[in-house]
Amino acid sequence: MRSENNYQFFFDPHTHSKEYKPSDYLSDYKKLIIREREKGLQAIAITDHETITPQWERLQDWVNGIQSFPFQTIFVFPGLELPTYFQKTSKGFSLPDKPTSTSPDHEIRFHLGVIADKYEKIKQISNDLLPFSKPISLKATLGAIYTNNSIGIINHPRIPDDHDWKIRTSALLYIKDLDVQQAIRGIEVFSGRSKDAEEDIASISQTCQWSMIGGSDVHVGKKGWEKNIGKAATSILFSENEVITPNDILFQIHEDGKTEEKYCERRVSAKSVPSQKTNIIEQIFRPIFLQ
Ligand SMILES: [Zn+2]
Ligand SMILES: [Zn+2]
Repeated sequence: MRSENNYQFFFDPHTHSKEYKPSDYLSDYKKLIIREREKGLQAIAITDHETITPQWERLQDWVNGIQSFPFQTIFVFPGLELPTYFQKTSKGFSLPDKPTSTSPDHEIRFHLGVIADKYEKIKQISNDLLPFSKPISLKATLGAIYTNNSIGIINHPRIPDDHDWKIRTSALLYIKDLDVQQAIRGIEVFSGRSKDAEEDIASISQTCQWSMIGGSDVHVGKKGWEKNIGKAATSILFSENEVITPNDILFQIHEDGKTEEKYCERRVSAKSVPSQKTNIIEQIFRPIFLQ
């Protein structure tokens, strides 16, 4: 139950720079972080496509310089977005280490968001996976996420639309069964790039016990990018006296949330997540709050 002593924490776990040239990254990230903070987000993860955040130390120094605890604080987490695949066979699905089929029709692809509390972990995941040709084996990706104590989120699960939604749904259930180590903790139900509440995806998140995630998928510099910020975010309830133990994760979609109150009013869907699943956020935030 929510009480007066709880407060909400808004997290955008899915953001990108415009990926133009390396010299632009730092200024892209600064623009992004300023806009996210103005829109009331308290945490973001930078999840560029197959690229670890360049100049991470400089970025962190800059972020630390603009902090003012608690509500104007913004935590910036390192991440990646990886194109992963596994295979569809006549009997169902298979998860080979390496491609065994040459036909793209037999591949099922998902974009996986990967987030960690420490840059070194993301760097290691990148070293483990990115030397190989893309898309990357889902099996290898799950292994790297788990080994490096990070978390995976299935981003925009309808995209790429390589197969119809029915097949992609069974593919998601297949992933759930295989992911015994729980590398995947969430699935993006709300995206800043769409206005819809995704009932179908929400229902899979329930079945698979994956946390429902809202992310902006903003790309700095893309036309209208600033408007996407805050349209979807992941809301986490913290108890005032127990800051490091998030007791709930909620999901919401926002039209144009600017303040905390607006975010709350515009919530279209919220649910409690079983407590064993709340460690998605706990894992990320605990080390930071304990510092
Ligand atoms: Zn993507
Ligand atoms: Zn993305």
